[in-house]
Amino acid sequence: MRWIEQTLDVDDGALPGLGRAGLVRTVATPEFEGVTFHEVLCKSALTQVPEGARLPFRWTVNPMRGCLHQCRYCFARPTHEYLDLDAGKDFDTQIVVKMNVAAVLRRELARRSWHGEPVALGTNTDPYQRAEGRYRLMPGIIRALAGSGTPFSILTKGTLLRRDLPLLAAASERVDVSVAVSLAMLDPSVQKAIEPGTPSPAARLELIRAACQAGFTPHVMVAPVIPYITDGQRELDVLFAAVAAAGARSVTVMPMHLRGSTRGWFMEWLAREHPKLVGRYRRLYGHGAYVPVEYKIWLRERVTPLLDKHGLVSGGSGAPERGAGPDGGTARSAERSRADREPEPMLF
Ligand code: SF4
Repeated sequence: MRWIEQTLDVDDGALPGLGRAGLVRTVATPEFEGVTFHEVLCKSALTQVPEGARLPFRWTVNPMRGCLHQCRYCFARPTHEYLDLDAGKDFDTQIVVKMNVAAVLRRELARRSWHGEPVALGTNTDPYQRAEGRYRLMPGIIRALAGSGTPFSILTKGTLLRRDLPLLAAASERVDVSVAVSLAMLDPSVQKAIEPGTPSPAARLELIRAACQAGFTPHVMVAPVIPYITDGQRELDVLFAAVAAAGARSVTVMPMHLRGSTRGWFMEWLAREHPKLVGRYRRLYGHGAYVPVEYKIWLRERVTPLLDKHGLVSGGSGAPERGAGPDGGTARSAERSRADREPEPMLF
């Protein structure tokens, strides 16, 4: 999952535009029909979250830009515009891969100035999107973080995470490792329409089970809740029941935000698929990116008794506590130069 939008007007060495330093090659492969990979050498791996973002972590790593999960509501979409790509189709199909991210991360974590603060993965684009199967960047990242005594959290919709569960379990012997799975709807036809590139809800429930079997207690991000589409009493009831049965103990429920170019991309889809909802959405999001407080209260009142019913705890991020260090238990559960930073809108 995921968080709230931050705004940075910066880049990570592959930006703006792909023609600048860092681009190694552009690849298309039959395994990923319609997808173009832009393989780059990044200058930095760690990204600092701005002060005031009110997030439970200050550092993130994002091995890729763009996401094959293709969620219509994705808040990371506008970051593609820093690459001179568009936030719609290009975000879904033009994937920037930081080929050297693990090596750069190791170097950054070895600096004397690094104090082992928690690092979050999955805050911008999904680290276990399908492309990770081709590039295998995460094992090196996990080893670098664990080896340096850095606690970390992973948020994903990607069932490819299962591949790395043994490695994550080993890492959790050294540092706090938290795993969170994003699952906001159970109906596969709704999921296919809104998140067409994601693994099915059933596969994500299996992922939660597998994470439990590996010794983790995965947090679940029921986010974003899509107003009038996935916020029904029955839909939420069966979702929480399934999540609890899979082994999750805590969830975060957040309504959808619609900001920047994401808004147009989502509304175009809504007009095509749910034309009768367009007027209601205009009213709901008429004053900005966020739903009005009345909707938030309504959703909370709907959700709270359902969470109680299914024995789920609300809140928590799945991220290690800020300041938790290598000795902080095994929960399993700088301003830099302009060229070294990257735009970092959090997803939900
Ligand atoms: S919301 Fe997450 S999984 Fe979906 S496209 Fe964005 S980064 Fe990928």
